[in-house]
Amino acid sequence: MRKRIAILGSTGSIGTTALRVIDGLNSSPGKEGKFEVIALSGHSNVKLLAEQVRRYRPNYVAVSDVDCVEEFRRLIEGLDVKVLAGAEGLTEIAGLEEVDTVLAAVVGVAGLSAVLAAVRKGKRIAIANKEPLVIAGQLITAEAKKYGAELLPVDSEHSAIFQAMQAGRHEEVAKIVLTTSGGPFRKANPAGIPDASIEQVLAHPVWRMGPKITVDSATMMNKALEIIEARWLFDVPAEKIEVMVHPESIVHSMVEFVDGSVIAQMGSPDMSLPIQYALTYPLRLPGPAKKLQLDRLKTLTFEKPNPQVFPAIEMGFEVVQKGGTAAAVFNAANEAAVGQFLAGKIKFGNIVELVRRCLDNHIIEMNGHGQNARDTNASLEELLEADAWAKKEVTECLKNHQLR
Ligand code: NAD
Ligand code: MG
Repeated sequence: MRKRIAILGSTGSIGTTALRVIDGLNSSPGKEGKFEVIALSGHSNVKLLAEQVRRYRPNYVAVSDVDCVEEFRRLIEGLDVKVLAGAEGLTEIAGLEEVDTVLAAVVGVAGLSAVLAAVRKGKRIAIANKEPLVIAGQLITAEAKKYGAELLPVDSEHSAIFQAMQAGRHEEVAKIVLTTSGGPFRKANPAGIPDASIEQVLAHPVWRMGPKITVDSATMMNKALEIIEARWLFDVPAEKIEVMVHPESIVHSMVEFVDGSVIAQMGSPDMSLPIQYALTYPLRLPGPAKKLQLDRLKTLTFEKPNPQVFPAIEMGFEVVQKGGTAAAVFNAANEAAVGQFLAGKIKFGNIVELVRRCLDNHIIEMNGHGQNARDTNASLEELLEADAWAKKEVTECLKNHQLR
């Protein structure tokens, strides 16, 4: 039977790759892994969204940027499709009755309420959008259990871990090893990194991705977010998570079991593979990812990240230890700072500095209210409050010229 899919963020890097994966699956022989596109969503790139609507003929489209809805309607005049506007529209398509699989590929906290809606309708959620898991991982995973939703990782490292985990039982896991290419500044002189230009930051050596995650990969905030993501997806404490720099980007992550056996997942660095696996799991079907030519690999190298060059990684562990609203603050400060950097308002080095400042100020703030962030099982309202607080705090720091 054909699966019925909603793609949240279909105009992005993951969204467009997913549509290519679906084209491949639908045109291949055999009955399995066929998808009907029921709903699509985009934010402001309505031209591409309209092209996708003409091609895939979904029943619903959400245009999350309300200022772009009118233009979008003009572009699709005469087509039979229901247009939903704003953040509510996005949430609505995530919970549609006629959808069984939701690909969450929006960037940032903007995807949170849609992910929760899909979880509460018991869908299969192929989740690329890591920020909601970072902020509200405890809530999302608890609700997924309650409503029988399936959370399948799309992030390449987490897809690798998910695959490797199948080699043993949960209690037999000794540690999870998240790999990272090291980004564009692995070999750079640390003194020059804070002043890196937007062009240098966006020139990732391995992956072509949307701008936010590309900046996150340069600061290593992406790895910090992935540590938190792994903590929730695989229910492991911070002590069982490790990060390794692996510049060849062939081993996408590993799981070490108690007997010393290390199971690694390898493949070409191509997001079509983890996207397809999340869509067709437990099946493996032929896909577009380039096959590995082992004899051409020559060497695979691994090294511990240098904390002087990448202080963000340690912050990821710290946030997992703290729990409560710390991850919401961490993520929001980063989203705000990346936005400022991409707008040319702050230096590259200010991103991590701002996040550090917000985390420290948040702890002072929490203690000032007689609360301890560590033990709280934060509610959605508290998490969103922390998100708003951190974004405001970034603005305050900038207003007061508190940066190096
Ligand atoms: P992108 O910027 O290319 O695409 C983002 C999508 O979200 C677009 O469709 C855009 O229209 C939509 N969007 C933007 N702002 C929005 C808003 N306020 N409300 C609703 N929709 C909005 O990003 P991407 O690289 O495809 O990444 C998407 C998510 O997947 C991110 O969370 C990222 O961390 C994660 N991810 C991406 C990759 C990758 O290779 N690109 C790999 C692993 C994880
Ligand atoms: Mg990743």
